[in-house]
Amino acid sequence: MRKFKTESKKLLDLMINSIYTNREIFLRELISNASDAVDKLYFKSLTDKDIQLGKDELAIRVSFDKDARTVTVSDSGIGMTKDELDRNLGTIAHSDSLAFKMDNAEAQGEDVDIIGQFGVGFYSAFMVAKSVRVVSRAYGSDEAWAWESDGVEGYTVEAAERDGHGTDVILTLKDNAGDESYDTFLSEFGLKSLIKRYSNYVRYPVQMEVSKT
Ligand code: ADP
Ligand code: MG
Repeated sequence: MRKFKTESKKLLDLMINSIYTNREIFLRELISNASDAVDKLYFKSLTDKDIQLGKDELAIRVSFDKDARTVTVSDSGIGMTKDELDRNLGTIAHSDSLAFKMDNAEAQGEDVDIIGQFGVGFYSAFMVAKSVRVVSRAYGSDEAWAWESDGVEGYTVEAAERDGHGTDVILTLKDNAGDESYDTFLSEFGLKSLIKRYSNYVRYPVQMEVSKT
């Protein structure tokens, strides 16, 4: 187990346990990361003639499994090496002003859109997930690695399998305990409306995958 950087833990804690109710923005953050990853590969392809990107490789896919309570955001972008998983997901982007504002809002019982304003990124997944697994294979590598965390103390990085380059971010949602918003994240209609709301600025197609059961 590798530990999250300590100065970041407070922020994570505030985010997860805050009174903040606009939790659905996690999807916006994950889609935007997927889009950035496709961007990086796309720009690489402009100068590297060996990289031929098919249409499928540009798409971002969202899927869910109601029984397993998982929501997955996948891309076929640049991916991450083992080191990059460690570096990029092991350090929570530290923002003093964000931590301060969240502290303040909590103290005052306000539900202002702090997270929405800042775009806190990947860690917003822990507002809805009890665990997050990121399976990634960097472009040009034949190794895949899985980063996994419950968002509390730290995370693990282990060897994994993945067909082709890109990243799957798999969220296991918290037990809802009467909170209906979680059911929204586990339904085609709910996810589709969130995708519609949040993929306006994404230049790649965001596809909803529905399992054929
Ligand atoms: P930001 O997007 O503002 O850099 P995030 O917290 O959203 O911050 O993400 C942290 C970093 O993790 C990103 O900068 C990127 O390097 C890496 N990352 C996250 N998601 C992906 C992904 N789907 N593919 C490749 N890298 C990713
Ligand atoms: Mg981001």
